[in-house]
Amino acid sequence: MKLYGDYHTHCHRSDGRQNEEEIINAARKRGLKEVAITDHGPLAAVIGVKDADEYLRLRDKLNIIAADYPDIEVLLGAEANIRDLQGTLDLPIEIIAELDILIAGLHPYTLPTSIKDGWALFAQNSLRHLGRGQQEKAINNNTKAIVETAYNNPQLDILSHPGLFFTVDIAEVARACVVNDVLFEINCAHEYPDISAIIEANRVGVDFIINSDAHFQETVGNLDYGVKLVEKLEIAPEQVANWHQGGGHKQWRKKKTNCIYS
Ligand SMILES: [Zn+2]
Ligand SMILES: [Zn+2]
Repeated sequence: MKLYGDYHTHCHRSDGRQNEEEIINAARKRGLKEVAITDHGPLAAVIGVKDADEYLRLRDKLNIIAADYPDIEVLLGAEANIRDLQGTLDLPIEIIAELDILIAGLHPYTLPTSIKDGWALFAQNSLRHLGRGQQEKAINNNTKAIVETAYNNPQLDILSHPGLFFTVDIAEVARACVVNDVLFEINCAHEYPDISAIIEANRVGVDFIINSDAHFQETVGNLDYGVKLVEKLEIAPEQVANWHQGGGHKQWRKKKTNCIYS
């Protein structure tokens, strides 16, 4: 299966080890028609952008250099961090409105919106090895946070690496993706989710997207892990948003302009 674009990469503005032009050139070398630069939201320690305005600075930069790369569409995105059980993201609505693509995921060391949520989500998750009861609590909380994220953020396009770092109930997460038109990511950098989770999500009927999550130019557009799995499982190409014949991000993006955030 050939893919149209890679919609999840990081540059040095968050924790990537590459600049914008290195990402663009690496994607061109792979023959992709589109690439998105999707740095981590600001409220995860170490990995996040310095502040939310960094996306506006990147937008300006991309506008300037776009003319140098007429053969590829370069998109501005973000991988926002989920902060609590209600699915609050670490990006203000004004910044989200400027993005072409919104990805969200759970990441360790994210600043929660309250101590209670910090305990329920991030601390509970680190207690999961203490036994079955604690583990079940962590799975319930992680699943709730992701499900609420899908319901409460109408502009969300992609859920990144579902279940990575934070174990979830895949079927419930997949159902929330289907209902809210959110793409279920197969993440090639982390080789996550694994085949059993992909089988389960497929059974629920999600649409997938295969992304590199590249932090280095060598791995931009390296989508082999996902391609091999969807081929092996005989998932219909129409169920993979970035399938080459799918026509690119204009065909699957959400970008609702009039949504209300509480
Ligand atoms: Zn991530
Ligand atoms: Zn990422």
